Amino acid sequence: MARITLRQLLDHAAEHDYGVPAFNINNMEQVIAILEAARKADAPVIMQASRGARSYAGDTMLVRMVDAAEALYPEIPICLHQDHGNDETTCFSAIQQGFTSVMMDGSLEADAKTPASYEYNVDITRNVTAMAHRVGVSVEGELGCLGSLETGEGDAEDGHGFEGALDREMLLTDPVQASEFVAETKVDALAVAIGTSHGAYKFTRPPTGDILAMDVIEAIHERLPGTHIVMHGSSSVPQELQDIFNRYGGEMPQTYGVPVDQIERGIKSGVRKVNIDTDCRLAMTGVMRKVAQENKSEFDPRKFLKPALDAMKDLCLDRFDRFGTAGNASKIKVIPLAEMASRYSSGALDPRIARDEAA
Ligand SMILES: [Zn+2]
Repeated sequence: MARITLRQLLDHAAEHDYGVPAFNINNMEQVIAILEAARKADAPVIMQASRGARSYAGDTMLVRMVDAAEALYPEIPICLHQDHGNDETTCFSAIQQGFTSVMMDGSLEADAKTPASYEYNVDITRNVTAMAHRVGVSVEGELGCLGSLETGEGDAEDGHGFEGALDREMLLTDPVQASEFVAETKVDALAVAIGTSHGAYKFTRPPTGDILAMDVIEAIHERLPGTHIVMHGSSSVPQELQDIFNRYGGEMPQTYGVPVDQIERGIKSGVRKVNIDTDCRLAMTGVMRKVAQENKSEFDPRKFLKPALDAMKDLCLDRFDRFGTAGNASKIKVIPLAEMASRYSSGALDPRIARDEAA
């Protein structure tokens, strides 16, 4: 099966009221874990690579692993997405490598640290969208800076994200500005800031509405019914995974993630892509710790990596089930990039904005 675009996949998800987890990939075990789960669940897949992943594995290795996945799991539509592109070069080099979707994160400047102005964000995102759509590739934009409403701090992980204090205003996406942004940039999907942050340490207590602003998603969806909303930093950091990690010598302070039921609530209000990285990491490393403690003489990496793969597969399966992704792979017929490109140029995929429809 050809590689699917984010736009086609999320349009299908919107039509059939489900969400799609976007799992980060860095190595072979993660790719296999995702695809094994997808095969079992009949779920379409978004695999995303950050700049960190592209430099860790190298573009050639990363892309060939996805090629291999396509050959081995031909029944699964696979979207390969650039996570947090920091500038045009990152996005266009991803497209050159065969990514079918890119995120242009213009909420931060190209250093991936300094919060950018709204004008900067519109300009750079519009440029990327105009070029990407010419070749049928999808674009995710971001409005508002990801960070904690609990501490007022931005988040930084893997060299990406703002460090230090931000105004509450910058930590929450403004629904009115969101519709202007989508109209001006024509992004296919919009990452929103609602109090989620990257990494394991999202909340110091189970999140309530003051620190996890799900109502902002509902307000954005009302204005932008045709735009797919993306939740970043949406690992749930399940207690049982923290417990395994700590039981076998880990020292992870108690933390709380985004509860799966809150994600399910988001899916009812236009959330179509849910980014999950920490949960996969934690599932894998918890099991690796267990093997290391229980079999102190073990030195074959496969004895660590195979159970780690299985733990990640279980996590992926659970999310495919809970988000309603399961059962949909076989219903999708992939539209080639050239056809997507001609749909963009005809205006058929232009954003729908509630304000305009009311006028
Ligand atoms: Zn993110």
